[in-house]
Amino acid sequence: MTARILVVDDIAPNVMLLEAKLSADYYDVLTAYDGPTALELAATASPDIVLLDVMMRGMDGFEVCRRLKSDPRTRHIPVVLVTALDGRRDRLTGLEAGADDFLTKPIDDVSLFARVKSLTRLKLVIDELRQREASGRRMGVIESAGARLDGLGGRIIVADDHPQQGKRIFEELAVDHRPVLEPDPEQAQLAAGARADLLIVNAASQNFDGLRLAARIRSDEQTRHVPILAVVNGDDRGRAAKALEIGVNDVLPRPVDPEELSARVRSLIRQKRYTDFLRNNLDQSLELAVTDPLTGLHNRRYMNGQLGPLVKRACKGGEPVSALLIDIDHFKRINDTFGHGVGDHVLRDFAVRLATNIRAIDLACRYGGEEFVVVMPDTGPEDAHRIAERLRRHVAASPFRPSGVAEPLVVTISVGVATTEGEGDTPDALLARADAGVYAAKAGGRNQVVARAAA
Ligand code: GH3
Ligand code: MG
Ligand code: MG
Repeated sequence: MTARILVVDDIAPNVMLLEAKLSADYYDVLTAYDGPTALELAATASPDIVLLDVMMRGMDGFEVCRRLKSDPRTRHIPVVLVTALDGRRDRLTGLEAGADDFLTKPIDDVSLFARVKSLTRLKLVIDELRQREASGRRMGVIESAGARLDGLGGRIIVADDHPQQGKRIFEELAVDHRPVLEPDPEQAQLAAGARADLLIVNAASQNFDGLRLAARIRSDEQTRHVPILAVVNGDDRGRAAKALEIGVNDVLPRPVDPEELSARVRSLIRQKRYTDFLRNNLDQSLELAVTDPLTGLHNRRYMNGQLGPLVKRACKGGEPVSALLIDIDHFKRINDTFGHGVGDHVLRDFAVRLATNIRAIDLACRYGGEEFVVVMPDTGPEDAHRIAERLRRHVAASPFRPSGVAEPLVVTISVGVATTEGEGDTPDALLARADAGVYAAKAGGRNQVVARAAA
């Protein structure tokens, strides 16, 4: 898994050193020697990660980071700030500026590649979501709403069996969040599956292997989106690298610095909410693409997609498929007499009746206006006719009661029925026959079912 990395530092040898290391490991490297150039490249050359030096003349790394994180074109790109060795203040300022991670100078290879790999994974997820979201349009809305998400009030599971440390972390977090202290790994995993925003795991726990727990959380379907922060002994770089390799999102050295803890927690939760947000919106846009907003039934486009393969199978010797085309009688009168709102109400109520009077494998859709289609797999002409007739009777026999209308409204439907007729039949031909049935039903006085076979 490779990535494109933008390295920013105003000291040329630093840039060259990082460039050499990363290129040797097959990363694609871009370089910039000052803030403005970095911003320009980040916006135009779509890097996957930015490695950003804090101490630069002119615009410093914090400012570059702030600008990257406030520009919709670049805010999704993970930023790693490169700070001085004892840069606690720098890290806090960096987190406030929106930095995703840190490396301290001199940069050792293990930390460098661990960070880069873990952020590349994150970036892949974000890209995937952004791409699908963009194809569902409305990216601007998503971005600005995403920017408002803060990282507070998180439900955090603290898996730690070290009594003092666990308690200290808990108390620190309780100020801004809703932490749960869980010394038992099984319980921690269960809790993480129940809508957790973050799991903090002590990788140096006495009675369980924290990294094993982290790996389980990462691979379990229920919990794989829960971010993990591992607490690791400050001098144990190997373990920190291992943790990142497993898929932990961030590591925090022991002894735990309370400010750094709360800053990192906040940034992880913010990130989590951002990806959740994208993911939810994605589900919603997929849903929008296949459902009719007024009735909640499938839309015509979805139905067409489903009907094609069913008809094809039926025509190649499979079970027959039937279609009902349903048109509400004199619907225009309802609108004209009671208003469009009442008309909508009737459409919605009709949709409910329709959906509750067909089998689970049947597919009901709003075909347009006051027309509906039901696709019935594995259904021959007699059964189709019977189902249509039952539905017609049901609708005519129980009047609608839209709010704001004193009298119950008697509504009737005209239904056309058609069934696949073997080789050469098509979805269009099938629906055309059903439509001819509707036409005949209207001509015959409405409130009736007419089946039509191919001429
Ligand atoms: P017929 O018995 O011949 O089918 O008569 P009809 O009045 O039902 O048929 P027509 O096709 O003339 O009118 C259908 C009406 O449905 C016209 C249109 O304004 C209305 N309509 C279409 N979509 C909607 C909708 O989403 N909401 C409401 N309230 N009315 C709609
Ligand atoms: Mg009509
Ligand atoms: Mg009508």
